[in-house]
Amino acid sequence: MSTPRLDIDLAKIRHNAATLVARLQRPGISVTGVTKACLGDPRLASILLKAGVGGLGDSRIENIETMRRAGIRAPMTLMRAPMPSQVDRVVAQADTSFNTELSVIRALSQAACKAGRRHAVVLMVELGDLREGVMPDDLDAMVRETLLLPNIDFKGIGTNLACRSGVVPDAQNMGELSRLADSLDSRYGAVISLVSGGNSSNLQWALDGADTGRINNLRLGEAILLGLDPLHRRPITGLHTDAITLFAEAIESKDKPSRPWGAIAQSAFGTTPEISDRGPINQTLLAIGRQDVDPAGLTPLQDIEILGASSDHLILDTSKCKVTLGSEIGFQLNYSALLRAMTSPFVTKTFVQPDDHRPSTPVLPTRSKPIGNFQQCH
Ligand SMILES: *Cc1c(COP(=O)(O)O)cnc(C)c1O
Repeated sequence: MSTPRLDIDLAKIRHNAATLVARLQRPGISVTGVTKACLGDPRLASILLKAGVGGLGDSRIENIETMRRAGIRAPMTLMRAPMPSQVDRVVAQADTSFNTELSVIRALSQAACKAGRRHAVVLMVELGDLREGVMPDDLDAMVRETLLLPNIDFKGIGTNLACRSGVVPDAQNMGELSRLADSLDSRYGAVISLVSGGNSSNLQWALDGADTGRINNLRLGEAILLGLDPLHRRPITGLHTDAITLFAEAIESKDKPSRPWGAIAQSAFGTTPEISDRGPINQTLLAIGRQDVDPAGLTPLQDIEILGASSDHLILDTSKCKVTLGSEIGFQLNYSALLRAMTSPFVTKTFVQPDDHRPSTPVLPTRSKPIGNFQQCH
């Protein structure tokens, strides 16, 4: 099989998504399945819909267009504020968009009128993470204006935490979002049907059994794909953490000293690396680099250590686990590594379709057992 390669096990992803959909049913929270980490791949979108998500969300209109072209008709939300230059495309393909600027909502309204369509708008509220959002004090005026715009359906409010600044979703900020929904409803007459509380980092708050107030939607990407809670990157019980695996191929393997020699200045990436002397090692090069993956987000499945990376090479200490040239070395990825690998045209994506007649695979303890057809350690 061609390398480097991402193996994406759709049965495990379906299990993860269905498990979260079921757990969030009790507090009355619907799930928007987030497709952006897989560039809106229709195979991922279809499996999320089979798992019971209520709709799909992506931050890029290009990915939404990819899914529409593939014939996916589910409700789709553009989760990043639309570019003013893209409002026609947004109205044509997305049912709903998240918004923070009145002038852009006006442009969406004009585009919707021109296209003879309706477009739903969710207003994002700033609750402390300092990425997108209307300041809470400005929300009321913005809702009043939005409600007046032709061909725009005001659908509700949302927020996004734990992204730029790592602000934790909790009873306080989620309570504020609920109160904002209540006050808009009492002022304008039950106008809020959607209160979207956040992303995968809201799961701990949503599932701890406490009152979730008006929040009736979460947008989940990382938790479904990686089975991790992004607040502490801990595995979520009952979810697969090995649904996606990266494989890269060994192109050099030699016994070498571990300490560089010669005068040392900056490396190719502008840092002066501190390299400790660990004596002679067995060093292996893999044909994958920074252009394809975030090396800091990789965990080898075998007893191998990552020593460094350049644009096109990953450098490993394989003293404890010798590898032969041409063999495939497997890694688990964090979200950052996954994003970059998905985006690299040099990385093949292999989707393993679920076999409906096979019982679903058990959830293995994290990183307990290597999977895939890579070479075993001696
Ligand atoms: C990417 C994104 C999400 C999904 O985040 P995960 O941590 O992957 O669950 C949710 N909301 C918005 C606005 C996003 O951009």
